[in-house]
Amino acid sequence: MLSTVTKSHMAVAQNASGRSLNVPIYTITSGKSGPNVYIQSSIHGSEVQGNVVIFHLIQALKRHGINGNITLVPNCNPVGSNIKAGEYTLGRFDPVNGTNWNRGYYYDEEDVINFAEQVQLSDTIEQIKTRFKAHTLAKIKAKSSRPWGLGLAQQLNLKLQAMASQADIVLDLHNGPVSSRHIYIPEFLAQQAPLFSMPHVILIPNHFAGALDEASFCPWWTLQTLLNDRFTGHYDFNVEAYTLEMGSQEVIDFVDGHHDAQAILAYLQAKKVINTSQYEPASIQRVGVYLSDYKTLFTDFGGMVEYVAKPGEILKEGDTIAKVLNIDDLDNEHATQIISAPCDLIPILHFPSASVLSGTQLYKCFTNYFSIT
Ligand SMILES: [Zn+2]
Repeated sequence: MLSTVTKSHMAVAQNASGRSLNVPIYTITSGKSGPNVYIQSSIHGSEVQGNVVIFHLIQALKRHGINGNITLVPNCNPVGSNIKAGEYTLGRFDPVNGTNWNRGYYYDEEDVINFAEQVQLSDTIEQIKTRFKAHTLAKIKAKSSRPWGLGLAQQLNLKLQAMASQADIVLDLHNGPVSSRHIYIPEFLAQQAPLFSMPHVILIPNHFAGALDEASFCPWWTLQTLLNDRFTGHYDFNVEAYTLEMGSQEVIDFVDGHHDAQAILAYLQAKKVINTSQYEPASIQRVGVYLSDYKTLFTDFGGMVEYVAKPGEILKEGDTIAKVLNIDDLDNEHATQIISAPCDLIPILHFPSASVLSGTQLYKCFTNYFSIT
């Protein structure tokens, strides 16, 4: 049976004229039971490739029977994508309060501990999941309507999280500045890396640091850890959440987006969300790193930079990573300066502009990396 696509709209913010800013919500279902999947893109306004990925996903999913349902929210932050300065989109921070658009989600570990204490040994996994989803949604709604109000980013985040909190699989589609394709995977889901066609894998702690992926998996990982300790059982709620970085910001590429979508379909097929066997994860060398070894190279100068090392290149300690032009020394031997790799590394992304101030995050790099098969 083919699936059906329904579309609705939700107001996630209001502009200063009091007009609602809506996002489209596409829901795909074919009436069979299965996982709830939630996919959003462009929470950071300049990170637009996920929108074309969602376009290709919807086109493909229409042709497949699916189990469960899939909710897709493209361009989920219409405030962020509309903040332009000249040629650039300033889509990373809520301009009113300065907060990162991907850090305003709800998580309360104490609340999970309290919930875990109410669980009985006789409760089934499905009963616990149903109760915990309802419980989390009520907490998100309570936070959204607290009498003292919330900042713009938090309000928008909680509206989206109300949907994501009901999902078993959450995919948050982002981009880096100038970036390779990479994915953030929580350590407890490290074995899932080969299901994704991402050459670079960042393994993050199983703890909350503010982002949607963490807000989505932390409650479940914490709950199952507490229950496994308490009942010496084997609770696994099979809730997964990932942040996928699909290349560089400010770029839409339909052909690459088709490949990105095929790769996500291979993952959804492995999770039995779609009833096909036509998709395969790419046969690629995957390289992993723990978050503590994902290093930022800051500049201690201001100047003009050529980014010599490209995202994904393998560099040895001492190799040239960037070349700096010193405009006060164009007439002497100090006109250029080389920045060398401080250790063996793989640059994953770099700053998008050639003109940099001191203290700029020039590159983010894998160090102490390892191969994943
Ligand atoms: Zn982002």
